[in-house]
Amino acid sequence: MSNIIKKEGFGYSFDARACSACQAKCCTGESGYIYVNAAEIESISDFLGLSVNDFTQNYLFKNGYKYSIKERKFNDSHECAFYDRTSNGCAIYEVRPTQCRTFPFWDYFKTRVDELKLECPGVVDV
Ligand code: SF4
Ligand code: SF4
Repeated sequence: MSNIIKKEGFGYSFDARACSACQAKCCTGESGYIYVNAAEIESISDFLGLSVNDFTQNYLFKNGYKYSIKERKFNDSHECAFYDRTSNGCAIYEVRPTQCRTFPFWDYFKTRVDELKLECPGVVDV
């Protein structure tokens, strides 16, 4: 099976083999928002064995009307609260938000491929 993923409407492809050597640049680095919707909040809470209330208080913050996952500081950088440095992976992988599942195929990057390439070494020309 090919490791190269293409998506209609995007002028680039993604080579999933890059992730193992990358140290999760998409989960660490500059501070950003990792949005979760109501259904995702519920499934992540369930996965962690927490009430929605406890999960929200411990792991989320509000930006406008949306909720985002908190980040930790690591040296001069930031990382998602669920980034697991030991395994270099996501501690909630099975229930990670849509925003994480769909990266790097975000509409925002359709016209910003150079910016995306700086962030994600798995992005390759079609
Ligand atoms: S930045 Fe790209 S290559 Fe690195 S872990 Fe994220 S998706 Fe994989
Ligand atoms: S939820 Fe998981 S995949 Fe998404 S940014 Fe956090 S560690 Fe990365």
